[in-house]
Amino acid sequence: MPLFSARKFQVEKAKLDIVTENMREGAIVLNAKREVLFINPAARVMLELGRTEAKSAAILIAFQKKFPSVDLNRCVIGAKPKESQEVLSAESDSSFYEIRFCCVSGDGGSDKNQYVLIWMEDVTETKILERRKSEFVSVVAHQLRTPLSGLKWTLHMLISGDFGNLTDEQRTFLMKSYENNERMITLVNDMLAADRIESGRMKYTLMRISVRDLVENVLFEVFPSAQRRKIKIDFQCPPKENFPAFVDPSKIRAVLQNLLENSVKYTMKGGTVLIKMEASGTDVKITIKDNGIGIPKEQQAQIFTRFFRAGNAVKMEPSGSGLGLYMVKKIVEQHGGKCWFTSEEKKGSAFYVTIPTVAQENNKKITL
Ligand code: ADP
Repeated sequence: MPLFSARKFQVEKAKLDIVTENMREGAIVLNAKREVLFINPAARVMLELGRTEAKSAAILIAFQKKFPSVDLNRCVIGAKPKESQEVLSAESDSSFYEIRFCCVSGDGGSDKNQYVLIWMEDVTETKILERRKSEFVSVVAHQLRTPLSGLKWTLHMLISGDFGNLTDEQRTFLMKSYENNERMITLVNDMLAADRIESGRMKYTLMRISVRDLVENVLFEVFPSAQRRKIKIDFQCPPKENFPAFVDPSKIRAVLQNLLENSVKYTMKGGTVLIKMEASGTDVKITIKDNGIGIPKEQQAQIFTRFFRAGNAVKMEPSGSGLGLYMVKKIVEQHGGKCWFTSEEKKGSAFYVTIPTVAQENNKKITL
């Protein structure tokens, strides 16, 4: 007796047809010979194909015409079973798409039975909303900057006694207001910098520097706040290694400052922070490891997104923007490096950064 009766087969096919014909995402399935085995109506609309066009070559040419920036050949070859999919962003006629190439295995994973599913999603609406949000943040931040700067100087003059003598109590309150105003200015500046990064307007001035010197400088700056909190700082670096790199020193300094300040900020009194520098291939790898509050597992996936702060961090340190790590990752990646972390709640976190050193300068240039 057949495993699947013809009737059951028809029912299953009808169910599948309902799904594939009504979904908003475009789907195309190719076999190992690059023949199109399946294309759903949404994909036909996206590729501006007739309802009946069935020739594989015509479909693939239409795909390439619609998304000239996608290297179809490389993506089909590169799709591997069970591997996480790279999401490609493509723009076409003022619409934005996300495209994934997934390898689906028929049986036992033999090449003959491998199919590639091309998944296309129109993300124009999301992109427009993101753009509007970003424009809104930028307008608000610009509008806030001028009054905050004015307030800073008025408070400064009051504290300096320019408008007459102050009692100790008056001075203390004004100092508190000054500090809060400074925090607001930092937040506004971070919002504008994040917006510049997001829109690709961040400017980089590259020069050859010693990454070791930069790390040591930042350590020197962070040291007083670590001392105040009785946090031990341990620095490890191979002797005589300078790790020369071609970077924007002020941006990489901001990266290191952010990571180090975080590790001090999110570690309890008496804790330890380790900064380790080592060669990793042609990169320098910097590890910043603490035994602080750690990051809850369920929130780790969001840690590099804008404005995200984990619950335990908010409890420990109510003020914070959640913009630092977003900028850290972007800046490092735009220097051709990588940034990632491992963390366990209540045990600690380790943030890792790699930066190409000068030997590799010609291969891995800044991507902006
Ligand atoms: P902020 O520190 O202003 O909140 P960041 O972007 O620098 O913003 O960090 C985002 C979030 O990542 C923090 O709010 C915190 O939840 C988490 N985080 C970053 N560094 C650490 C660390 N060393 N230990 C624990 N949590 C951290």
